[in-house]
Amino acid sequence: MNVGYVEDIAVWGPLVIPKKTGCYQCKQHLVNFTDLSQGQIDKCKAINSSYQAPSTGPINMMASSFAALDILKFLGNFGQIQSLNTRVGIWSHDLHIEKQDYSLNPSCTVCGSFQKLS
Ligand SMILES: [Zn+2]
Repeated sequence: MNVGYVEDIAVWGPLVIPKKTGCYQCKQHLVNFTDLSQGQIDKCKAINSSYQAPSTGPINMMASSFAALDILKFLGNFGQIQSLNTRVGIWSHDLHIEKQDYSLNPSCTVCGSFQKLS
């Protein structure tokens, strides 16, 4: 499972169960730089070369707590696991929740061939 933060967003998931759920590479939710102008790309590179988002205890605690809860639900076989096929983010400044789909992709370069063995 991926767990961490993006700026002030506590992030966890997807919880990967081999052959049953998607992995982190099954879907791409990253910026597609081919849609940006060269000027925009240069600005992104300049900003990102000297920027690092601060790691804050409360955000990390929130992410790790929800990740641990999902793992306990999986191990104990109870409740609804929020991060199956999903990356969950809690935006701390307004407490809204965003979910990104990470369901199985048979063409995935990481787990696609593994899926076909089952
Ligand atoms: Zn995959």
